[in-house]
Amino acid sequence: MKIIMLGAPGAGKGTQAKMIAEKYGIPHVSTGDIFRANIKNGTELGMEAKKYMDQGLLVPDELTVKILLDRVAQEDCRNGYVLDGFPRTIPQAEVLDKALAELGEEIDYAVNVDVPDENIVKRMSGRRACLSCGATYHIEHIPPRQEGICDNCSQSLVLRDDDKPETVQNRLKVYHEQTQPLIDFYTAKGVLRTVDGTVDMKEVFDAIVSILG
Ligand code: ADP
Ligand code: AMP
Repeated sequence: MKIIMLGAPGAGKGTQAKMIAEKYGIPHVSTGDIFRANIKNGTELGMEAKKYMDQGLLVPDELTVKILLDRVAQEDCRNGYVLDGFPRTIPQAEVLDKALAELGEEIDYAVNVDVPDENIVKRMSGRRACLSCGATYHIEHIPPRQEGICDNCSQSLVLRDDDKPETVQNRLKVYHEQTQPLIDFYTAKGVLRTVDGTVDMKEVFDAIVSILG
């Protein structure tokens, strides 16, 4: 099963993608996580991506598409995957479509997690991330067992640089301009399904499971 998560930054794509990956036994592929791992390891790709991420801008398609296509070509993606944060532009979606078509494959579902802009800034300022294992928490809604410490790997949790309110506004603008058109793109393909992302994360997940089966 090949699934794409759509939605504004902070809508809960990563939270749901991790649960989907676990339930259906497919890898969770997050371009944001791949970039953050590269930044942490000080790679050239990481240094280039950081310039854009810190401003709330998208990393150019030339860089992003290659890392994604390399990732989904790996053995563990053979039976499908859940993409979180990719595609984010129409050209990215077209490249993915073409690469899949060459293999005689296609996306099964594009799940749009719908959360209005008013809720997003609050979500992002409360998000705490583990840069070591990629786990995500929320200080009010989904707190870790011990404040500031990752449940999975005991590393310190951080407020991502790009989750500061001034950057979030930029990311929302970029989302509406460049990513939202993907809703029409996947509607036209007949694979778009929208869920209400404002309810409790378990309820969101139940709605997604009833779609995926
Ligand atoms: P995205 O991957 O779309 O950027 P995340 O999954 O990281 O978003 O979620 C953004 C923030 O909102 C995180 O702090 C997460 O813990 C929290 N969150 C996710 N889903 C919900 C929900 N249904 N209700 C409340 N908070 C949520
Ligand atoms: P995320 O973790 O999905 O919120 O992504 C964090 C940041 O990484 C984004 O704000 C972008 O700067 C960059 N990024 C992640 N995925 C993509 C993508 N598909 N295209 C362009 N930039 C991306």
